[in-house]
Amino acid sequence: MVEKFAPAGHGPSELLPKVASVITIGVTGPTQGTWRAPAKVMTSVGANVGRIYRVAVGLSFHIESRYGYRSIYCPPHVDPEFGARMPMQSLKLHAELAGIGARSLAGDILLEPEFGMLYYGSVYTEMPLPSDEPMAENPCPAPSCVKLYKETGQTPCQKFCPVQCLSGELNEDNSVAEMNFDMYRCAELCQQYENMPTMIERAFEADDQLDREETLYGAEAQSFFYKATAGVDTNAQCFECMRVCPIATQSEGVDPIRRGAAAREAAQKGGS
Ligand code: SF4
Ligand code: SF4
Repeated sequence: MVEKFAPAGHGPSELLPKVASVITIGVTGPTQGTWRAPAKVMTSVGANVGRIYRVAVGLSFHIESRYGYRSIYCPPHVDPEFGARMPMQSLKLHAELAGIGARSLAGDILLEPEFGMLYYGSVYTEMPLPSDEPMAENPCPAPSCVKLYKETGQTPCQKFCPVQCLSGELNEDNSVAEMNFDMYRCAELCQQYENMPTMIERAFEADDQLDREETLYGAEAQSFFYKATAGVDTNAQCFECMRVCPIATQSEGVDPIRRGAAAREAAQKGGS
C-alpha cells in the first residue's frame, strides 16, 4: 500500500528489499506548560522528535530479537541527493495510511482527534502484519475553527501564522475544499538551513573588519552556532499555527495533566 503512494525511489523497498509491513508510531506533542511558553522557547523545546526516534529504534531491535524478522528504523532524515527539504521517506504518508492522522489546514500537519499533533516514527519489517485503514473522517477543521472562518474568512491557524503562509477554503459541509501552504515562507521563518552560507557570504562581502566580525560573531550568529552545535532545533516549526489549534492543544489525549488525573482515578476505582 505504501509503495503504491510513495514517490518513485522513495518507497519502503528502497531501504529493505523484502519489506512486508510498515509500522508507524506516534507520540504526543508538548506539555501544557510548553504550549504557554513564548515562541522562542517553543522552537527549542516544542518538538518531541528525539523521543519518537528512540522508540522506533527500540522497536526495530525488539522485532528482530523477539520475532526473528529483519527490521529497520526508517530514517527521518533528508535525502542527501535532493537538498534540505526532501525527506528520504515520508513518515507522514505512513501515519496517514495507517489512520493515526489526517491532513489539516495547517500546512498538511497531520491531526488525530484524540491525540492532536503527533510526532511520527516508522519501522520497516519483513514480518507480515495486517494493515490498518486511513481515518474515515478528518477532525480538521474543528467546529470553533469553522465558526471563525465564517466570521473572518480564516481559520485560527491561518489567522495567527506570523508570515501568513496558510490559506484555503471550506466546502458547504465544512470539509476542506482547498489548502494552500507557502512552504518556503514558513521555512524561511523556521528552518535555518541557509543561515550558515548566508553568514559566510555576508562576511565575504562586508566592507570592513568590524562588519565582518559582527556578521560572524554577533548575537544572531552566536545563537545560530549554539543551536547548530548543541543539537537544538534549527529546522522545526514556529508553532504559532498549532498553538491556536484546538485539536493540537485541547484534545483529551494531548493533555498530560488530564491524562494523569484520569489514570489515577481509574487506578483508584480498580483498587477499591
Ligand atoms: S510553523 Fe509558523 S510559519 Fe509555519 S505555518 Fe505554522 S505558524 Fe506559519
Ligand atoms: S486550527 Fe487546527 S483544527 Fe482549526 S483549521 Fe487549523 S489545523 Fe484545522
